[in-house]
Amino acid sequence: MKPIVCTGAMDAETLELMDGLKGAHTVPLGCWKCVAGELDGYPVVVVRTNQGMANAAASTALAIERFAPCAVVNQGTSGGHSPDLHTGDLVLGQRVINMNAVRTPERARGMGIDPTCGQLLGLEIANPHPGDGPKQTVFEADAGLLRAAQSVAWDKSSVVCGVIGSGDVWNNELDRIAWLHEQWGTLTEEMEAAACAQICAAYQIPFLGVRILSNTAVHGEPFDARTGIDCQRFVRTLLREYREQNGC
Ligand code: SAH
Repeated sequence: MKPIVCTGAMDAETLELMDGLKGAHTVPLGCWKCVAGELDGYPVVVVRTNQGMANAAASTALAIERFAPCAVVNQGTSGGHSPDLHTGDLVLGQRVINMNAVRTPERARGMGIDPTCGQLLGLEIANPHPGDGPKQTVFEADAGLLRAAQSVAWDKSSVVCGVIGSGDVWNNELDRIAWLHEQWGTLTEEMEAAACAQICAAYQIPFLGVRILSNTAVHGEPFDARTGIDCQRFVRTLLREYREQNGC
């Protein structure tokens, strides 16, 4: 049976899953911490990607090459954009975007700059063929993984489906956060999911991003690393649901 690779950037986002693995053993994976074993009777590999898009992309590619997983789930903490969400609420990434992949309109010298005028820039899906690869601005969740996530019984906080925005950025400007939410529908932001999704698209591996709000500038709620534990508990149930629903 192929494993599911579950990624998270920090100890606070991976140790709960790693500690839950039966027969846990560390596997060399380049510069990244990687522990394989069984979770609830199914093979799971947990990778700590470290923070940021480059780390997430590189470690995801290595994990896919090493384990040929049937699915990849990227999960962890995030900062809320939606006024409806508070710390502890969960966002299932029906769509994931790279908020920093932007094309600006042409503007003559002296005409100034406007951070709100950019459109999402297509990101190239890697392949070894001649010429440019196809471009994607939005990464859709795998339907089976999303269904499994939606069937998790969770009464501790709200669980919503929507857009997760990624980038090597931590936004604290409330006008910018509101603009991202209105322009692209981002419910929450973080620094890895779109990079993982882009690599999974290249390898055609089913992908889902799941993020818990660990902070939200919208409501002045500061970063709380303990939310990472709840996110992993949710994802553990999600993985079990996925195996049971899909038999893979
Ligand atoms: N230890 C740091 C927290 C790191 S937060 C501190 O005390 O400040 C950065 C990590 O958390 C990234 O991996 C990112 O995915 C996630 N994250 C949580 N909230 C975020 C936010 N508001 N903006 C961007 N990334 C966020």
